[in-house]
Order: sequence, then structure tokens, then C-alpha cells
Amino acid sequence: RELMAKGLPKKKPILGVKQILLVASGKGGVGKTTTSVNLAVALKTLSPHREIGLLDADVFGPSVPLMMNLQSESPLLTEDNLMKPLINYGVKCISMGNLITEKSAAIWRGLMVMQALNKLTREVAWGPVDYLIVDTPPGTGDTHLSLVQNFPIAGALLVTTPQSAALQVTRRGLTMFEKLKIPVAGLVENMSCVVCPNCHHTTQLFGDKVKAFAKTHSLNILAKIPLDPSVTNSSDEGTPITVQQPDSELAKAYLKLAAQV
Ligand code: ADP
Repeated sequence: RELMAKGLPKKKPILGVKQILLVASGKGGVGKTTTSVNLAVALKTLSPHREIGLLDADVFGPSVPLMMNLQSESPLLTEDNLMKPLINYGVKCISMGNLITEKSAAIWRGLMVMQALNKLTREVAWGPVDYLIVDTPPGTGDTHLSLVQNFPIAGALLVTTPQSAALQVTRRGLTMFEKLKIPVAGLVENMSCVVCPNCHHTTQLFGDKVKAFAKTHSLNILAKIPLDPSVTNSSDEGTPITVQQPDSELAKAYLKLAAQV
């Protein structure tokens, strides 16, 4: 109400960025960053002529630098004092993890999220970027509100695992985006099943409730990603599965996702 009284803040595009897509999840640990990273690489693979950006908006728990093998890097500055995004696998990346040391993390913790977001968006020489994938923190907090209130957001992608506990909070995310009038592109069902490496039998370890959830909320499931050790290992090694095994079924699932967003 306070915001309404003052008038909503004016949304200002990020200089040089055409479209912004938020990747969100209700819970942490469901594979939101894994999805963001692989989606960014898959978008670049699908359209090499397009410029893809990846913004790690998880200011207090950044994991994009690990998954994009950019851990020991820090951005150089342009003549105008803007940060040059770090580039790996053809994707332009900016993360708080590349700007702070363990020591300065405490200082940032005390600052407003918006100040950090401002730095990661307005103080970066992004341009040109056709699609900017934004990896948001888990839940429905200040970061999401700040992003939606300050930037023109084209859409949001919701990542969930199939358990009721995850779906319940996914619903909360969905409600938030509906209220904020941000179109939800669809769902990514992560850890949807486990395939036995010996007999190839498929087990739905966490149940099969996403289909009904999607139907109830008129959403499309844009990708089903199995729980697979090669996803964990590739992420830990800083080479996303889309880079490490580009011809695998997993990589194809991310390419299919990229074709639909
Ligand atoms: P979030 O961003 O939602 O917190 P992450 O993307 O960081 O989640 O993933 C959490 C952990 O689970 C990481 O170690 C990641 O490698 C692993 N992981 C994510 N998706 C899968 C999957 N489909 N199969 C196996 N491991 C996965």
C-alpha cells in the first residue's frame, strides 16, 4: 500500500539487455541454479549468434561461479567504470561471488538487497544481451519483488521437484508471479525420476504429483530432468552437462527447454 501511495517505482530496462527471464523455485536445493546454467548454455547452443547473459541474483548464496568454472575470476572494468561480465561457454556471467571476498561478504550482508542488485545490473557492461537468465534465490522474498518492481521482466520459469513439500511452495511462487503480473513460462520438473545404471529401470523416487499440479494451474511442464549423478558431477566440476555431454539425453532435455522459453 505504501508503494501504491508513493507510486510504483518506474521499471527501467537494463542497458543493452533485450529480454529478462527469471528462474525461481520455492525451495533451495531443487536445482534452480543447475537449470539456469544449463538453460543459458542451451540457449547459446541453439542460437550461437545470440548473446546470452546469466545473472546470479542469489546475492547471499551465489553458486553460478562454481557451476560456470569462474570461481577465481573477477570482472575487469571498462573506461566508464562498468564491470565487464565474465564469459565462459559463450555465456556472459555476473555474480556477487565474483565481487566479494569472505571478508567483504559481511559488509554486503548489511546492505539492502536492492543495492547489490543495482550493482549486478546497472553497473555492468552487459550489452548486447538478447536473453538475460536471472537465477533468483529460493523462496518469494525481497529479491523477487525488487527485480519485478525495477526491471521489465518478460517471464518466469519455476523449478520444482515432485514432492508435495516442494510443490506447496512452488504454488506460493506461482501466486506471487500472478499477483505481480509476470507471465509464468512453465515448470521444470527436476529430479523427476532415477534411472538404474544397470537395468535402466525408472523409479519415480519422489512421486508423480507435478502432472496434476501443472494441470490444476494450467502450466506446461517444459522439461523433466532425472536425478542423475552426471548432473551433480558436471556441476561440481564447473562444466555443465550441456557442455560436458552435449549429445546426452540430459543435454537434449535442456535444449528442448531452451527452445520453449
Ligand atoms: P538450487 O539452486 O535450487 O539451490 P542447485 O542447482 O544448486 O539447487 O542444485 C543443488 C544440488 O543438486 C547441486 O549439487 C546440483 O549439482 C544437484 N542437482 C541438481 N539437479 C540435479 C539432478 N537432476 N540430478 C542430480 N543432481 C542434481
